[in-house]
Amino acid sequence: MIQKIDHLGIAVRSLDEAVQYYEQVLGLKCSGKEEVPSQKVKIAFFQVGAVRLELLAPTSSDSTVAQFLEKHGEGVHHVAFSTDNINEQLSKAKDAGCRLIHEIPIQGAGGRQAAFLHPKSTHGVLTEFCSVEIEQKDNV
Ligand code: ZN
Repeated sequence: MIQKIDHLGIAVRSLDEAVQYYEQVLGLKCSGKEEVPSQKVKIAFFQVGAVRLELLAPTSSDSTVAQFLEKHGEGVHHVAFSTDNINEQLSKAKDAGCRLIHEIPIQGAGGRQAAFLHPKSTHGVLTEFCSVEIEQKDNV
């Protein structure tokens, strides 16, 4: 079952410049940075209440985020829902006729599992399912 909107992914050209905007203009604090080799991106995180912003900058020109930037420019890249059962969520989407980008979850940011649905079958929004955060699981 989907638990909540976990994060919004925002594609940016320069992580440093974007972080500066979020910190200096919006007054938010960057809560961490990480490189995710499987996605060829560098990520900066901002926790804003229950939702996190993930600024994504490509580390390679063949990164899907680089392709997104070329096509659409900077902007909202994906919406991520955390779910207690990512595989069940994927098979439900598949049964409903959605095109899956990942049939099997990949290793996403923070070592969490993640899988994407193609925007062509989700009314234009690249949709991510991610596993519930590890800290949260431990607290249960
Ligand atoms: Zn994401």
